[in-house]
Amino acid sequence: MWQVYGQDHIIRQLEASLTEGRLAHAYLLVGPPHVGKMALAINLAQAVNCLEGAGAPCGNCAQCTRISQGIHADVRVVAVGSNEEGGPTRTVIGIDDVKEVLRQVNLKPFEGSRSVVIFDGAESMSEEAANALLKTLEEPPDQVMILLLAHDEDALLPTVRSRCRRLLLRPVAKDLVVSKLVNDYQADPDQAENLGRISRGCLGWAVDALANPEILEERENQLARLSEVCRAGLSDRFSYANDLASTFSRDRESARQVLYLWLRWWRDLLLVKEGADEYLHHTDCTEELRLQATQLRTVQVVNFIKSLNQTLEALDHNASPRLALELLMLNLPGVGIAT
Ligand SMILES: [Zn+2]
Repeated sequence: MWQVYGQDHIIRQLEASLTEGRLAHAYLLVGPPHVGKMALAINLAQAVNCLEGAGAPCGNCAQCTRISQGIHADVRVVAVGSNEEGGPTRTVIGIDDVKEVLRQVNLKPFEGSRSVVIFDGAESMSEEAANALLKTLEEPPDQVMILLLAHDEDALLPTVRSRCRRLLLRPVAKDLVVSKLVNDYQADPDQAENLGRISRGCLGWAVDALANPEILEERENQLARLSEVCRAGLSDRFSYANDLASTFSRDRESARQVLYLWLRWWRDLLLVKEGADEYLHHTDCTEELRLQATQLRTVQVVNFIKSLNQTLEALDHNASPRLALELLMLNLPGVGIAT
């Protein structure tokens, strides 16, 4: 049984490849964070090892069970930001990580029929590491399947991309997220509606946020901080840039998520300026958005959205986080600052 929701276009394609024995050795799973890339990767690892035969994974056999529990010896996950063994958090997938995992998969599978390596956050692979992986992608051993998970495929080496079959996971319609939360996770309809809207079609995020109220609280805190920084003077803005730069050094993904939150906020400001309130993302902050929008000119909003995109791009290309974020703060138009 596939545990991936709202990605029927991909499931149909994979089931056909599985039953006809036409699977690729390497797949690139692309889509926004929490859209279901990891769930699909785990399902695919189950499908190629399932004891019930070709097609959708049964989910119940010894192979499927051990894979979903994360204890299967032939399914390995290399991820950025993980800190499972109490060691330092990995911010880049380096050449040693790639070499070590490839050394292991070049051996015969221990307990299943196929080894699967999942690189989560493949855009954070160093160039050296990507080149090391390239050799395996060019001449993949029969018993190995490589899955690269990325939300920004442009950050991958084109040579790596071109050797993977691409699977694009799309955000799910809001109503589908809401009905899934209500029917399968017993969410209260109002709460489901709110999470469905904020999740932007990423069911995994909505399910996590339902189970863990701290996720919503953290979002509220980030939004409060964002609006405070918009009103603050330069020294507070710089101290915010420094905080975010330190977050970036520890955990790139959460710093990126903060910048995406900024981006959504400023897109909302543009929508308010254009009188298109019905498309707002932060419908719970309409009053504040309206107030802020009256203090800005459209050109300022557009320019700052550009700056945010440039900052994200610079960070993906290994710019100094502190400099990139300080520059962003310099470009932030003043809102309600007494000058
Ligand atoms: Zn199975």
